[in-house]
Amino acid sequence: GKEAANRKAWNLYNPDMHTFLKETMLSEMNLRRGLDMNEFKLHYQPQVNCRTGEVSGFEALIRWQHPERGLIFPGDFIELAESTGLITPIGEWVIKQAAGQIREWNEQGLKNATVSVNLSPRHFLHHNLPFYLDKCVKEANIKPKSLVLEITENVALEDTEAVANRINLLREMGYSVSIDDFGKGYSAFIYLQHFPIQQIKIDRQFINGLGNDPKSSGIVQTIIHLAEMLGLQTIGEGVETKQQWDLLKQFGCSELQGFYFSRPVPVDEINELIRKHGKGGKLLLPSL
Ligand code: C2E
Ligand code: MG
Ligand code: MG
Ligand code: MG
Repeated sequence: GKEAANRKAWNLYNPDMHTFLKETMLSEMNLRRGLDMNEFKLHYQPQVNCRTGEVSGFEALIRWQHPERGLIFPGDFIELAESTGLITPIGEWVIKQAAGQIREWNEQGLKNATVSVNLSPRHFLHHNLPFYLDKCVKEANIKPKSLVLEITENVALEDTEAVANRINLLREMGYSVSIDDFGKGYSAFIYLQHFPIQQIKIDRQFINGLGNDPKSSGIVQTIIHLAEMLGLQTIGEGVETKQQWDLLKQFGCSELQGFYFSRPVPVDEINELIRKHGKGGKLLLPSL
């Protein structure tokens, strides 16, 4: 069983392998250095109003511009950041950047645009999070409601009461809380029952099936109806085709996000879009 497998793995271990691991794996030290050297950056993916196609906000997605390895995606370092606890200072950096960015976009005329940030369960429950959010929001002189906090189902593995209390407090402070990858795990209904969230992001795998799999269409419609009954906003994630957009519009989804509209891009590209296509506080993507 497992022990035999472990023994086997141990036997396979040799000094060459050790050098290999040391050279290829991202370590806690790398990550710490990356943070100290300011090697992280945010890309932004537009979110659009499902009916009008107008940009309603952006999701901030972290990237690591590594001096030797180039651009590293979150899938390759977030887990390490979580297990080492570095996710809290990294998350704080993300919040601060995002708040400053909202301020800039407000000044460029996008008055109601929101920015969503992804928070790990550990950071979400951190005692300092509410204070830190308030500090950033005050410094940037923005409204708390323009900052949306995305958490995933993993948060449901934590103490339910602690999570519910935290969401209530953040709500009272004016923030919105969104459940990311909704439906992907096993605890979707637990959130709805216990957590006073404002928004759910329908997992990409269900959106992906729209148009070719009748089951996906049924699931997506049901999630949207359920959200409507509970007074929650819905975002369809991973929209890649016009057909998916049309169906989501027909189902009454509130907002959309996905490669069909735009990939996540560096902030300069968003600023360029605003300069060229922003009119009267509104932004319509030129691709539509
Ligand atoms: P997520 O929050 O669900 O973000 C959406 C992911 O789907 C992004 O991947 C985005 O590039 C990708 N995506 C967007 N539209 C489409 C589409 O139409 N088709 C396909 N196939 N993919 C699409 P990314 O940027 O690699 O991020 C992966 C995950 O890493 C995020 O999933 C989030 O859970 C996590 N993450 C990203 N930034 C942060 C961060 O600042 N902090 C933390 N704790 N986690 C983060
Ligand atoms: Mg929004
Ligand atoms: Mg997200
Ligand atoms: Mg997601």
